[in-house]
Amino acid sequence: MSEMNTAGTQGPEAAATPHAEAMDTPCLETAGYPIAIDGPSGSGKSTVSRQVARELGLSYLDTGAMYRAAAWAAQHAGVELTDQAAVTAVVRAMKLDMPLDPDNQKISCEGEDITAAIRAPELSRVVSQVAVNLEVRAELIARQRAIIAAHPRIVVEGRDITSVVAPEAPTKILLTASEETRLARRAREVRGSAAPDALAATRAEVTERDAQDSTVASFLEDREGVVTIDSSQMSIADVVAAVRTLAQGSGKEQE
Ligand code: C5P
Repeated sequence: MSEMNTAGTQGPEAAATPHAEAMDTPCLETAGYPIAIDGPSGSGKSTVSRQVARELGLSYLDTGAMYRAAAWAAQHAGVELTDQAAVTAVVRAMKLDMPLDPDNQKISCEGEDITAAIRAPELSRVVSQVAVNLEVRAELIARQRAIIAAHPRIVVEGRDITSVVAPEAPTKILLTASEETRLARRAREVRGSAAPDALAATRAEVTERDAQDSTVASFLEDREGVVTIDSSQMSIADVVAAVRTLAQGSGKEQE
């Protein structure tokens, strides 16, 4: 599905319908797109966003992967992540091929497949250093907006999507979960277990990253027009259903 790959530079003709078979979903005619989903790590936003995109036949953009790719590109170029000007120059020139298909999240940067590399714990530890660089944010936000403009039938997830990247999105959701739940989910994801030692190691990483991230993206606050869903006691399927209902509702309001 090459039309689903974009670096944000392709024209609107690249706007594809990824899953034509899902097009008979009744709410599609009226759904409120784009769907913008914010939330802290471990809130389940990636899993939920991908599933919503799949079920509704929408594109999917993981903006966190773009920040991870930026950190990878800077390291690949041999630049110190603390050298803001050098990092900015690398990121502005970065050739990033972002997948928009929820079922194919193969990410390439400078012609290299970085899908696995950007999930490595070493990269997770340093990505915030790049994300707090305001010039980098401006560059990535511009690319994200270009992708959304070219592919408006999309679910976009990240930490500043409802507040900065797409505040005009008709469906805006803040997905939260209790700290305990978020930690257990992350520990299982990253360490394969939510045993006490895995939880303790994950706690240090997650709380530190969220604290650093919250200096530039206010993803923990309630805002007007943004519906908060606390997923602590909900299954993925329940959260997905809630998002679909909200999108349908905001789509009807738009009519
Ligand atoms: O969502 P994920 O954990 O992959 O995001 C990785 C990092 O990218 C976050 O910790 C944050 O530093 C940054 N990020 C951001 N704004 C976004 C998405 C991610 O600052 N919209």
